[in-house]
Amino acid sequence: MSEIQIQKEIDKLRQSTKFIIALAGNPNVGKSTIFNRLTGLGVVTANYPGKTVELNLGTADFNNQRVGIIDLPGIYSLGSISEDQYVARQELLNGQADVVLVIVDATNLERNLYLVLQLLDYGYPVVVGCNLMDLAVKNNICLDTEKLASALGIPVVPVTATTGEGVDKLIEQCANIATGPITRQARRPAYGKDIMDQIDELASVIEHQLPTRPYRLTAHALAIMLFEEDKDFQALLSKTQNGQNVLEKAKTIFQKLEKTHGEKPSVRLSRERHGLEGTITDAVQKSGICPVTLSTKLWRISLRPLTGLPILLAGMIIVFMIMFYLGSYLSTAFDYTWSQFVSPWIKIAITSLAGNTPVARILLWGFDAGIQAALSVGIPYILTFYLILSFLEDTGYLNSIAFLTDSLMHKLGLHGRSVIPLIAGAGCNVPAIIGTRVLTTRKEKLIACTLITLVPCSARTAIIMGAVAVFVGWQWAIAIYLIDLLVGIIVGRLLAITLPGESSGLVMEMFPFRLPSWRTVAKKTWYRMKEFIIIAIPIIAIGSLVLGFLYESQYLWLVTKPFSLIIEGWLGLPAIAGICLVFGVLRKELALQLLLSLAIIKYGSEVSNLLHFMTRQQIFVFALVTTLYIPCLAAISALVKELNWRAALAISAFTITIAIIVGGVVNQLLSLTGWLAHI
Ligand code: GDP
Repeated sequence: MSEIQIQKEIDKLRQSTKFIIALAGNPNVGKSTIFNRLTGLGVVTANYPGKTVELNLGTADFNNQRVGIIDLPGIYSLGSISEDQYVARQELLNGQADVVLVIVDATNLERNLYLVLQLLDYGYPVVVGCNLMDLAVKNNICLDTEKLASALGIPVVPVTATTGEGVDKLIEQCANIATGPITRQARRPAYGKDIMDQIDELASVIEHQLPTRPYRLTAHALAIMLFEEDKDFQALLSKTQNGQNVLEKAKTIFQKLEKTHGEKPSVRLSRERHGLEGTITDAVQKSGICPVTLSTKLWRISLRPLTGLPILLAGMIIVFMIMFYLGSYLSTAFDYTWSQFVSPWIKIAITSLAGNTPVARILLWGFDAGIQAALSVGIPYILTFYLILSFLEDTGYLNSIAFLTDSLMHKLGLHGRSVIPLIAGAGCNVPAIIGTRVLTTRKEKLIACTLITLVPCSARTAIIMGAVAVFVGWQWAIAIYLIDLLVGIIVGRLLAITLPGESSGLVMEMFPFRLPSWRTVAKKTWYRMKEFIIIAIPIIAIGSLVLGFLYESQYLWLVTKPFSLIIEGWLGLPAIAGICLVFGVLRKELALQLLLSLAIIKYGSEVSNLLHFMTRQQIFVFALVTTLYIPCLAAISALVKELNWRAALAISAFTITIAIIVGGVVNQLLSLTGWLAHI
């Protein structure tokens, strides 16, 4: 890639972003870790012609703003001696960045401050990210970052790149400088008075002689460059008369300085910088144990993969246990209340209007059985799930999960943030799909929505638990989740590779754990339930009416005919299960009940045990296909709302195909091996 092409890429970045951050720092301070965390996929790598050094360009989203990030090579200073320095310097001097974010190593502050001081000398708007704070704490190095900020006169943010702690604050500070409230120039580092006077003297000559300043730097910064004996700048000056005048003046000043102090100006300036580094470091750094609160300690433990992943696993088991016990308790309570106090009145109202006719029975399907099913299978589990979800969200734990799983999510073309809608999908796909609004690019939304439809919602969990765990065995129920997970990972990966468009990083808000207020948790839960009730309940009622009509008119059995080749042949299921699969689209959470009730009607009341008319293999394949295929109507309408008709149809067709392929392959495999024949 030529320099012009690199320029083109940067111009593109400028046009599509609100502001640009140049990421600078010494080598090995965690710059790449921070860059990857911020930008995710969609990174453009540019090679300078004839140089081995790479320049990475990427974008991140912060507070609905797109931010461009240029990752400069790791350097100790801005001279133009090595290739790395050349590239970093070139980018900074080209003046593309609105703010320079310098990452320093908290365990080795003194050495890292040189570059910061130099950039401040050049007058760049600088934010410092003090990274590796976790290691500093471990090594008993206490850094007072606020004191460092006031010593340097610029924002300083403590960061632990590996866990993501502080990364959001970094971007917030950069945004403040690049776009907003803080417009002040960074303070100049204070060196010895004599050298400061000489720099000022040279600066005033430059001010006078060079009305258009090279590199768009201030006269003060250019004077510093001459003090540093910058060869490129000297060469540039020698080309014009005014430039030569400046060089002449510089020579006189330097000779005077050398005579009085016995050292070259570049050596003197460098010594001044090192001195200041030491003074600042001594003032802001103490050794000893830094006080950390319990909630911060717990939070950090949850972010480290080694401890965080087992905590996540244990947390998931607890969540499912609460869902199971509290959900089934609520289910019984709602069911009882409806059948005792509401259902009789609806029956009386409908029969008094329509008598004991098929029309009355159809109305009862919709307004009695349909609503009761929603109350006993849908709402209790979804309500419980939302309660837990809102609680976890407000404690800050969901954000920890998002950070913990960030790198896995990137492999699926998403970032950690999308883990939250994916988790929400286990309650109900509908609000989870609506939750993808937080994702900014269409590619990410498409991938997230497709993956959400593959997350088994509580209705599908009811089928897996109620049919597979009960009649086949719990390990086979787990197998369904594992197959589903595998399919999700493969699909996500394939979509990430094949879908056009870019993905960007997203900066998430991070905060240590806190105890949420029950009021806000209750409010959030209600808000989410409301969306579910408004979208899903009418569809469930209408779906039940349609089902009632087809059932009462005997058309139901005709519907499965066209599918028999797939249902009975490839998937090896009885025709009756096919009806449930077709109508599960309307009311997925009732697919199991439908299966049982239709079986009872067709074969008689003794078949309430599924094993009387289905083999274990058929039950397993049935539940697997139900888990994978087309989401229910409510979810499809949410897809239409969030994406569009075409995308909703494409996702539906895609999931049906996957369900048929995976279901069929598993069926053939089970027939071949006979694993489920001998239980
Ligand atoms: P770069 O050379 O500045 O781009 O540094 P990298 O991002 O490649 O990081 C260098 C090493 O430091 C890697 O092994 C990182 O995992 C590790 N690292 C980066 N940031 C942190 C941090 O905040 N804490 C700890 N403990 N390790 C970190």
